[in-house]
Amino acid sequence: MAHSAKRRAHDESSNGAGSNGDDMGSVYGSRYAVSELPSDDMPDGPMPPGTAYRLIKDELSLDNNPQLNLASFVSTYMEKEAEQLMTEAMSKNFIDYEEYPQTAEIHSRCARMIGSLFHAPKDTSIGTSTVGSSEAIMLAVLAMKRRWKLRREADGKPADRPNIIMSSAVQVCWEKAARYFEIEEKYVDCTRARFVIDPTQAVALCDENTIGIVAILGTTYTGSYEDVKAISDLLVKQGSGVPIHVDAASGGFVAPFVRPELEWDFRVERVVSINTSGHKYGLVYPGVGWVVWRSSEYLPSDLVFNINYLGADQTSFTLNFSKGASQVIGQYYQLIRLGKAGYRDIMRNLTQTADYLTNALREIGFVILSETSGRGLPLVAFRFPGKDEGEPEDADFDEFALALYLRARGWVVPAYTMAPETDKMKMMRIVVREDFSRSRCDLLIKDIKLCCHHLEQDSQQFIKRMEEHASEHSVAKRKTKDPLNNPRHEHKRVKHSLQGKTGKSHAVC
Ligand SMILES: *Cc1c(COP(=O)(O)O)cnc(C)c1O
Repeated sequence: MAHSAKRRAHDESSNGAGSNGDDMGSVYGSRYAVSELPSDDMPDGPMPPGTAYRLIKDELSLDNNPQLNLASFVSTYMEKEAEQLMTEAMSKNFIDYEEYPQTAEIHSRCARMIGSLFHAPKDTSIGTSTVGSSEAIMLAVLAMKRRWKLRREADGKPADRPNIIMSSAVQVCWEKAARYFEIEEKYVDCTRARFVIDPTQAVALCDENTIGIVAILGTTYTGSYEDVKAISDLLVKQGSGVPIHVDAASGGFVAPFVRPELEWDFRVERVVSINTSGHKYGLVYPGVGWVVWRSSEYLPSDLVFNINYLGADQTSFTLNFSKGASQVIGQYYQLIRLGKAGYRDIMRNLTQTADYLTNALREIGFVILSETSGRGLPLVAFRFPGKDEGEPEDADFDEFALALYLRARGWVVPAYTMAPETDKMKMMRIVVREDFSRSRCDLLIKDIKLCCHHLEQDSQQFIKRMEEHASEHSVAKRKTKDPLNNPRHEHKRVKHSLQGKTGKSHAVC
């Protein structure tokens, strides 16, 4: 015993090298290969870099393959030249404009190009990058709220009960924004037949405390585009001054190329701001987003900070300060490398692949809930036929069971419960991303057919057991020390969200 204690002390004092006492030993011959990776406390000593690299990589190999993750809109492919530029920029702090003036210049170019893509007036519009659409939306909401408040105060009216109008299909970041900034959420509910906002209902909900209406260019459920122009026209007709913000997280880089004639952007009178995710169809690795305002009139100046930092005056309107410069540089690469024609080719191909997949799934017998021919995002939302089609609800298996069977083949195709007022309609969604080529699509179709066949053969009892087995392995159920992820923790059971109240589950974005 004394010997082993002495031995441990020796190992620690030798900075954790292998039993042969130096860093030259093999990774799997070292003592690290037979001990747990540290998880609660920082280890006392260092380990050799090659060992750390290998052991962490090994642990990560249990993650899913990002390319088979059809749940997410977020880019999983960039050219190696882009990767190289981004790696080279990794040590630059984006916020140090003075030290990295060319990075700042490239940022402005991107913001202008994206504004121009959305038909923003060139002489007045103003834009900035963010970490993603969530942050972009927070900024846009703050701007709308402040502008409303300033006007109310100027009129000598109370400004303590702001509200915002949106469809119940909003991405969770809208619930967050409203909650964080203390704005009442007013929802226009979806129905089993309408998965987007109803413009008339939206405008009817407006009152003197409405800071804005949200229109989504590509909902995360069915990818459908909400009718921005119809909302604007109604507002204009009624002489209402309520502004519109367009959440074009996904559609911002699709619609301009696939449906250039669709008026959803600054061509529409009441649209004052638009967000988009550079890391979705902007084709950059996470995380970069953009927000553009029609003019500085819609971005109250008391939200914009002029700071003198490291010797230079800078203008800043972001929630965070330091961040990496790589994503903005990656965005610039994509914009100039592909050009409009390059984005058009990619987005048209994705639309074609989505249509091809739609037809194949319809042939298998699924009900299709998404649009085709570029009328929505390149994704396919579908479900098994059920009571709406006059068929008995199949009690033996549902969309969640199919998701589980597909998972066994490596495909991540999420099943989820639709927005409120759809009677908990279940659906599945496949996002067609840049790297989802026709041949990969064919492999998926084959696997879906096979899984459906198995589901029909397998007994209800067996499927149930499989589901139980999978849920025991899911992250949510895993015993974890992350306080926010602990199922016993009070945060797990929040009732304030649409999910808590109605069972709406969010498609992974
Ligand atoms: C993905 C998404 C968001 C959130 O965007 P992030 O870039 O992931 O922060 C918001 N709204 C919609 C419609 C989305 O699809």
